[in-house]
Amino acid sequence: MSRSIYWFTNDLRLTDNPGLVEALAAGGHISFVYCIDPKLFRPGRYQCPSMGAKRHRFLLQSLEDLDSRLRRCGQHLNVYYDNPLRLFEQLHSQWGMERIFHSVSPGFYEVKNVEAIKQHLPQVKVTPLHTHTLFQPENLPFLIKQLPDTFTQFRKQVEKAEITIAEPLETPTSLGKSFIPKSNWRQTLPRISNLGKSLNYKSIYFGGETSGLRHLTDYFQQDYAQEYKQTRNELDQHSASTKFSPWLAHGCISPRQVVHQLKQHEQFRGANESTYWIFFELLWREYFQWYAHKYGNTLFAFGGIKGRNPTTSFYGERYQQWCQGSTPFPIVNACMKQLNATGYMSNRGRQLVASCFVNELQLDWRYGAAYFEQHLLDYDVASNWGNWQYLAGVGADPRGARQFNLQKQTDTYDPDGEFIERWQGNSDCMALDSVDAVGWPL
Ligand code: FAD
Repeated sequence: MSRSIYWFTNDLRLTDNPGLVEALAAGGHISFVYCIDPKLFRPGRYQCPSMGAKRHRFLLQSLEDLDSRLRRCGQHLNVYYDNPLRLFEQLHSQWGMERIFHSVSPGFYEVKNVEAIKQHLPQVKVTPLHTHTLFQPENLPFLIKQLPDTFTQFRKQVEKAEITIAEPLETPTSLGKSFIPKSNWRQTLPRISNLGKSLNYKSIYFGGETSGLRHLTDYFQQDYAQEYKQTRNELDQHSASTKFSPWLAHGCISPRQVVHQLKQHEQFRGANESTYWIFFELLWREYFQWYAHKYGNTLFAFGGIKGRNPTTSFYGERYQQWCQGSTPFPIVNACMKQLNATGYMSNRGRQLVASCFVNELQLDWRYGAAYFEQHLLDYDVASNWGNWQYLAGVGADPRGARQFNLQKQTDTYDPDGEFIERWQGNSDCMALDSVDAVGWPL
């Protein structure tokens, strides 16, 4: 019997998982593995670790749920805290698998890890599959390297091509037989309850396919989608936008499942501009996914895809103020405190704090993106770095740098000051730069 490993990455689900279906179709014995690289918890290039406690908790919840779902089908998931190359070398020497199937990610480390595995284990066939996007590369009306320069061109071409979005795939009925025995990973990993204690905030987001599917169904059973376009920019209202992002980012649900539920909602409750706008936003997500595949490491470059370095300096104090929510701008402070407490910030909030970071504070946008990477529950390499490039004026925005008028935005989106009060945006406001007695910056 042949031996394959299905390496779960950004696709922590059993339903509508084309990668999993293909791996099972290959036949033979199959084992399910997830690898958490300890490097993610160490401060990286931008001083902060990639994975903060809130996302870690969401991830562990998602893995426990995946394992439970696999166990119900007579299978199991083994989770390892290790460097992926070292892990697969060990698994190969112990179990001698012939194939590895995995979902593709455009992330820098993810790509490097796959390349290293291919190089060090040439006898193992590594098969990458797209499970994280609405479309497959062959459905797109252009080659990825010819991805349009702007979102609008992308959307128009995709909509004109009328690409059929396939129905989501069912959960496979048989999940094969594992050749790697169950490990006791649930005992060896940090306890979710301990992580929760250190967060002192009870999250409304619970990781996993089970809760993701429940939220998806609940959302479309209500009428929220009917007014989405009018409400989506609100800063603090849970039902103002879909809140699908944490589950989409971890692959607990797929964008195809969202579209499928959206179509059903439109059928029963009516289609309007708001329901269309949910699809429109999913196309933004889709654009950034293919953008990241097209541009590779340039996604993280200071000068972005335009190769134009912004004028910035490093102001340590300004950076600290922004992170803690103590800038001179109450709306920015409130958004940052919301992020620090919950791991979530509205799209409008993200645009405002990023614009402030780049324009008012004149900081290097990559530090802001890295801070988001650590703190967002829904961190997604393509959406995060693509949006930051866009706001820093080095990405896909045809208008170049975009500066939001923070006072005007406050008047529009928080006219009564409720949001700022709730998140104490006024409580720690500080002047921008401290100076010493003779006027030198401290
Ligand atoms: P909704 O408004 O309900 O939108 C539905 C879905 O469409 C979202 O779940 C998301 O998957 C997608 N979407 C919506 N807007 C965008 C967008 N601008 N770009 C890409 N996808 C979008 N989104 C992430 O998922 N992960 C990130 O790491 C991330 N980082 C961001 C950084 C910055 C600086 C900015 C400006 C935006 C970022 N976004 C990111 C996009 C967007 O803010 C979030 O997807 C959205 O706020 C999530 O809330 P929601 O699910 O209620 O969105």
